[in-house]
Amino acid sequence: MSVALRILDDGAWLSVNDQRRVSVSELWRLHAPEFCDCSLVDFIAEGFTEVSADGRDVAVTTYGKCIACGESGVPGKIPVGYIREGEYRNYDREHVVLEPVETRPTTNQQ
Ligand SMILES: [Zn+2]
Repeated sequence: MSVALRILDDGAWLSVNDQRRVSVSELWRLHAPEFCDCSLVDFIAEGFTEVSADGRDVAVTTYGKCIACGESGVPGKIPVGYIREGEYRNYDREHVVLEPVETRPTTNQQ
């Protein structure tokens, strides 16, 4: 079963199977030490440029900024949810620390 992933409205939304599931302006806590000097980045998403699914996560390439120090840019591909049995599920993004897929350990088993 395939899942259609799309970025809509100039990067304001991630759509999954034609439903708007993730919007910008969410506040995320990121473990992204290369993004800024804060121990955890208080990241506000300002736009999505790309979406990818790697078999484990659905990740969006996101630009935005750290509201603590003001650093802005693209921390990487941020996992926002996953696909299980053909259905998209959101991660609990307001309560977990997200980590860009490029920098997290690859042998993490879960
Ligand atoms: Zn910061």
